[in-house]
Amino acid sequence: MTPGSPHFAWRDGLLHVEQLRVADLARQHGTPLFLYSKASMLAALDAYRRGLRGRKSRICYAMKANSSLGILQVFARAGCGFDIVSGGELQRALAAGAKPRDIIFSGVGKTADEMALALKTGIGCFNVESEAELDVLDGVAAATGHIAPVSLRVNPDVDAKTHPYISTGLKGNKFGIAHDAALAVYKRAAAMPHLRVVGIDCHIGSQITDSAPYLDAMDRILDLVTAVEAEGIRLQHIDFGGGLGIDYKGDTPPAADALWAALLPKLDARGFGDREILIEPGRSLVGNAGICVTEVLYLKPGEHKNFCIVDAAMNDLPRPAMYQAFHGIEPVSQRKETATTYDVVGPVCESGDWLGRDRDLAVQAGDLLAVLSAGAYCMSMASNYNTRPRAAEVLVDGDQAHVIRERETPADLMRGERLAP
Ligand SMILES: *Cc1c(COP(=O)(O)O)cnc(C)c1O
Repeated sequence: MTPGSPHFAWRDGLLHVEQLRVADLARQHGTPLFLYSKASMLAALDAYRRGLRGRKSRICYAMKANSSLGILQVFARAGCGFDIVSGGELQRALAAGAKPRDIIFSGVGKTADEMALALKTGIGCFNVESEAELDVLDGVAAATGHIAPVSLRVNPDVDAKTHPYISTGLKGNKFGIAHDAALAVYKRAAAMPHLRVVGIDCHIGSQITDSAPYLDAMDRILDLVTAVEAEGIRLQHIDFGGGLGIDYKGDTPPAADALWAALLPKLDARGFGDREILIEPGRSLVGNAGICVTEVLYLKPGEHKNFCIVDAAMNDLPRPAMYQAFHGIEPVSQRKETATTYDVVGPVCESGDWLGRDRDLAVQAGDLLAVLSAGAYCMSMASNYNTRPRAAEVLVDGDQAHVIRERETPADLMRGERLAP
C-alpha cells in the first residue's frame, strides 16, 4: 500500500510497519508520530549497491532528506558516507558514527568557519560551487595548515525543454559552476597551493522520475572530464549527485539498479569505467521508508468542502504547503462505511496548512490516519510554528521499536529564550 515499500502493509484491515501494528505504536508513543522501517531503508540502499556492484563506488547519503541521528546511524553502520550541506550536519554525521573520510560537503554558501571545521575533521571532499568559494577555501586551508580536497560542482545545463521538472541543473539557478566556465576554474583550482583537485560533481535536481536527464547530464559531465584531464588534471572520482524520485502518487521512477544499468555502459564507452563513482541519494533512500501517523480531531462538514482536522500540521509535514506536494493519506484501521471527500488539514493558523485535498476517506473523530511517503524532507524540515513541539520518531526493526527522537515539550521550545530585565 505505501508506494514503493512492502514494509508497510495491511493485515486483517490493520496497517503494520514490519512486524508491528501502527495503531499500537501510536497508542504507546502518541501522535503525530513518525514511523520508519529500517528494512525499507536498507532495501533502498541495496538497489543502489546492486546497480554499482563490481565498481569502485561510494554512496554518500544526502542527509538533509532526513538527518535524525537514528536514521544516520542505520546508513553509517551499512557503510555509507554522507553528503552534508552545513557545519551542523557535519556534527550530526559524526555523532551518528560517520567516518570523516566518507563525508562530502556540498552547498553554495559554506562559511569560513564551516570550512575550517570540515578541514580539521578531515572530510573526504568539498564540492565547490563558485570561484569565490574556491578562493575562500584556499585561504582557510592555508590559515589552518591543511590541503583541501576539492571537486567542482558543475551545472550541466540539461535541456529544460525536454526535462522541465529539473530544477538545479539548469543555467539561471544558483547551483554549481556553469559548464562553459568549468574548465578555466579547474585550471585555477589546480594551481592553488592549498587545494587538491580530486573529482567532479553534479546534481541536477530532485524527484526525477526519468532516466533521460541522468544520461544527458552524464554526457555533459564526461565531456568536461575529457577536457579537464587533457590539461593534465586527473579526476579520481566522478560524483553524479542524487535526485532519483520516489513513488508518491503513481510516479514511476526507474529503480536505482536499472538506472545504473543504463548509466554504466556510457561511462565505460567513454573510457571512465575505472573511476570511483560517487552518488548522493537522499529522498530515494528514505522517502518511502517513513509514514507520519496522525489522529483525526474533528470532522467539519461544510457547504463547499468537508474538512478532516488532524493533529499533524504543516510544521510536521511542510511539503504540501511548500510545494503543493502530494502525500497519500490512508486510515490506519480500515472501516467498512462509505467514504466522504475531505480536505485533510492541520490545526495551524494558516490556510496553507493542509496535508491533502479532496481525499475520499471513511473516518470518524479519534481515528488514526497514516500520511505516506513521509520519510524524506518532512522531519528534517519540521518547524515549531505555532509553538508546536516536534513529533516523536520511532525506528522499527522487525518486531522491535526504537524511539530515535522523543517528542519535544513546550519547555524544550523555550530553552534559550530570555525575558528582558
Ligand atoms: C539535496 C541534495 C541531494 C539529494 O537529493 P535527493 O533528491 O533527496 O536525492 C544530493 N546532492 C545535493 C548537492 C543536494 O543538495
